[in-house]
Amino acid sequence: MNPGNPSNNERSGDRDLYISGLLRQTKSLDLKLKQCDADSIPEMFPQTICDWCKLPIALIEFHRGIEYKPTTYMEAWAMDMKHPIPVYCVRHNGAEHRAGTSFEIECRFCPPRYDNTKEFWFNNEKEFIEWIQNLYQQHLRLRHPFLLS
Ligand SMILES: [Zn+2]
Repeated sequence: MNPGNPSNNERSGDRDLYISGLLRQTKSLDLKLKQCDADSIPEMFPQTICDWCKLPIALIEFHRGIEYKPTTYMEAWAMDMKHPIPVYCVRHNGAEHRAGTSFEIECRFCPPRYDNTKEFWFNNEKEFIEWIQNLYQQHLRLRHPFLLS
């Protein structure tokens, strides 16, 4: 960990508390999305997990810097899944005590049947949370349609 880097200082353990806090605000049916860390694999990025099947709904790299963030491993992993999920890179300016006003989203891998918009952005947390919630709805529709009927 680089102590001089504010984006690293925001992290407590391996978890980005700001992002965890946003994801806690999503809710579909009675199911909540969870941000989970694989503690046994420190290099593993946190996962955005479906409360029902315990699988990730998307692989998302969150970052605050301006540099290009590769998602090479996430893309390889997503493509090899039995039920592939989208991969996104999200650049944002939020922090634990400062609401985000910029969320730039880039789709790096889009499986069939998912919205394939390449780049889009939001300028408040509410829209960002709605987007994640829609992703979760899409996951529920594709994977657990009986929950929605
Ligand atoms: Zn699920």
